[in-house]
Amino acid sequence: MNKKLNASLLQEVIHEAYEKCKDDKGGANASYIPYLANIPSGLFGISVCLANGQIVEVGDTSYVFGIESISKVPTALLVMEQSGPHAVLEKIGADATGLPFNSIMAILLEKDHPSTPLVNSGAISACSMVQPTGDADKKWAAITDFLTALCGSKLTLIDELYKSESDTNFNNKSIAWLLKNYGRIYDDPDLSLDLYTRQCSMGVTARQLSIAGGTIACDGINPITKAQVFKAGLAPHIVSLIATVGFYEHTGDWLYTSGIPAKTGVGGGILGVLPGVMGIAAFAPPLDGAGNSVKAQKAIKYITNKLGINIFGHNHYEIE
Ligand code: GLU
Repeated sequence: MNKKLNASLLQEVIHEAYEKCKDDKGGANASYIPYLANIPSGLFGISVCLANGQIVEVGDTSYVFGIESISKVPTALLVMEQSGPHAVLEKIGADATGLPFNSIMAILLEKDHPSTPLVNSGAISACSMVQPTGDADKKWAAITDFLTALCGSKLTLIDELYKSESDTNFNNKSIAWLLKNYGRIYDDPDLSLDLYTRQCSMGVTARQLSIAGGTIACDGINPITKAQVFKAGLAPHIVSLIATVGFYEHTGDWLYTSGIPAKTGVGGGILGVLPGVMGIAAFAPPLDGAGNSVKAQKAIKYITNKLGINIFGHNHYEIE
């Protein structure tokens, strides 16, 4: 029998999640990017975008924070849209590394491919694949236009975050040039790294992220603007990547306990997708050791478990 999911039930459950998690003192802001270390740690918001376009939210859902690694999702989709899903598999890959997001050892072990566009190496490689090759301005326009369409409204660069990250991204510089060494970067390494750093420094709200999740959940149709943002058949590919590595080396634990594919960012955001049903986003800056928001994880887990939502089970939902 189909379960009924409506805005008032969701409203109740996300408020419960908010109350249960808001005083949690676990984790710490990302400290390796100076801008992120100074964001108020108490910010917390949860937003859900249902497939029918209803938005249900609580807390700081219009606070603009750094999208960080969640930006790896739209750019991977953009590359699939421009060059086809097979190109991503061939040139980057779709495997989890089981290692931290910025691991150099993962590249040394794999040698032949960076593994997935959802870790730093594969994301820099994905930026190198964005068309048109060699034209930083046009590539950047393609990335930001796609982000706008996916989220249903414009995102703006947080200049201070971009500067902070550009001044300290020595590890990512090494990754870009190591990819060059293995023939796994498809444009100038410095240009590709700069695009990656810029996309990570885009400011986003939890509401916008939930709409992006809703667009993926609806096979590329933005539930708010109704625009077809990407080809329908691409959604299962991006959801499979998110499910495989969205929480880096904690991805298995996450899926086991939450049942929903989700991608995190060191800015404190998490974007979850329940295909056909909803996008869900939560934001709270303090992170665990793998770089995943502590409160946002707890809140989303509470919601999926309370509603009995799980992509691995025989659950069917009707949105009322
Ligand atoms: N810009 C960050 C980095 O490259 C993103 C990491 C993340 O959000 O996981 O280190």
